[in-house]
Amino acid sequence: HDAAFDLKAHIRSVPDFPKPGILFYDISTLLRDGPAWKAAMARLADVVRPHRPKLLAGIESRGFLLAAPLALELGLGFIMLRKPRKLPGETIGFDYDLEYGTDRIEMQADAVAPGDRVVLLDDLLATGGTMAAGVQLLRKAGAEVPLAAAMIELAFLKGRERLDVPVQTLISYD
Ligand code: 5GP
Repeated sequence: HDAAFDLKAHIRSVPDFPKPGILFYDISTLLRDGPAWKAAMARLADVVRPHRPKLLAGIESRGFLLAAPLALELGLGFIMLRKPRKLPGETIGFDYDLEYGTDRIEMQADAVAPGDRVVLLDDLLATGGTMAAGVQLLRKAGAEVPLAAAMIELAFLKGRERLDVPVQTLISYD
């Protein structure tokens, strides 16, 4: 498909969001452009398909916007990794450290069967803390995680060095 498609041209960078000094990469401008969103999803599909997952897992909330439509496109199941106390039924969680404090993500305990291949998706890889927690949680649930993928990578934060799975991203900023 479209080798000329310029994904970076569709990502808006917003200075001082959510706080002063942070340059936020905003995927809203991509999602509101139908052909561009489709082209970006096709690229993500090419990255994910060779890993032959059974399921795609998305991290709340922008990860859902990639993982759910991609799972549908590839004929795969989709599972949610969510903030605490959002999911009904029995859940398992993983606690992880932030710069200040801790956070937790959860999934439904019966979402994966032992050995299921699950590819983890999020919109953006920054320090890698969120993705690393997602990988650990999926493994705790019994999944095998052949790939963690994101649309955008902030390469200067070296997030991929925190991950012990193959990482693929579509575009990267220094
Ligand atoms: P990390 O845990 O890798 O430091 O941060 C990644 C998480 O924060 C992802 O879930 C991502 O959605 C969010 N995030 C951090 N910075 C940005 C940004 O500039 N743009 C977007 N879209 N998400 C960000």
